[in-house]
Amino acid sequence: MDKQYDITIIGAGPAGSMSAYNLAKHFKVLIVEAHGLPRNKSCSGILIKKSVDILEKYFDNIPDNVKCTPYETNGITIIDEYMVPRDFPDKGLNILRDKFDYWLVQHAIKAGADLIDHSRVVKLDENENGVTLTIKSDSVYKINSKIVIACDGVSGTSRIMTNTPKQNKLVTYQKYYNARASIDRSKFYAYISKNFSEYDSWINTKNNHIVVGTIAKTLTKSKYFHNQFISFLRKEINFEIIKEIKDESWYIPLVIP
Ligand SMILES: Cc1cc2nc3c(=O)[nH]c(=O)nc-3n(C[C@H](O)[C@H](O)[C@H](O)COP(=O)(O)OP(=O)(O)OC[C@H]3O[C@@H](n4cnc5c(N)ncnc54)[C@H](O)[C@@H]3O)c2cc1C
Repeated sequence: MDKQYDITIIGAGPAGSMSAYNLAKHFKVLIVEAHGLPRNKSCSGILIKKSVDILEKYFDNIPDNVKCTPYETNGITIIDEYMVPRDFPDKGLNILRDKFDYWLVQHAIKAGADLIDHSRVVKLDENENGVTLTIKSDSVYKINSKIVIACDGVSGTSRIMTNTPKQNKLVTYQKYYNARASIDRSKFYAYISKNFSEYDSWINTKNNHIVVGTIAKTLTKSKYFHNQFISFLRKEINFEIIKEIKDESWYIPLVIP
């Protein structure tokens, strides 16, 4: 790895990899990723058709090993607070997030970007030539870059490092189940009832698991909503748990529609 780049991108998520892919054709680009890759992220993993079209315009078809069943999704059904369902049909794809992000970053590398993972940007110092980045991995070292692009996601610290106002965020809680339910497994169901969430709650399918998720300002509240939502789903869609597989929580930015 060199110590001087035109552009350094913090974060190897979709934003970082797509930026690197496009910029590496014209500039000397480095991606710095805090975690080892491939890395799982809590995600419903639904690529809407618009996203699929963009990706397939840039790259080859999305490979099967990136997808999970049912491969093709049939859109979202939003159930409002009066329990009235509204269908938003969409021919999207069901993907596995660790494999998807890894597939994207491979395209950036093929386009010429350098990648260092297991490496966290901990300090940014602006100077007349650009920015000096302090990077912490097994050791602490510095690299110089004319430009830095912060693609470090909702949990990133670039806002703190650059004195940018912090982003309001919510906590998601998802649980994977072996379960039975009266749902169309190719659909994503989102409930916007305030009884189960401070944003929305959802149920969808990934491989042979049903995933149930909720969002609130705190993890404790999100877990509380989860239990409320499960009780509701038992009555509403005959949700029957065979086995709990795993749970996970994550942050999501608070976006006011
Ligand atoms: C529960 C849940 C379900 C979701 N479902 C969907 C869905 O179905 N479809 C959809 O399109 N979107 C979904 N999303 C949203 C999607 O996950 C995000 O929009 C997407 O991850 C944003 O990509 P990004 O590249 O901006 O950030 P991220 O994917 O978060 O990537 C940021 C990267 O930066 C790295 N990083 C952070 N700080 C540093 C640092 N200091 N130094 C180096 N690296 C750093 C992180 O390790 C991370 O890999 C969901 C989100 C959640 C939480």
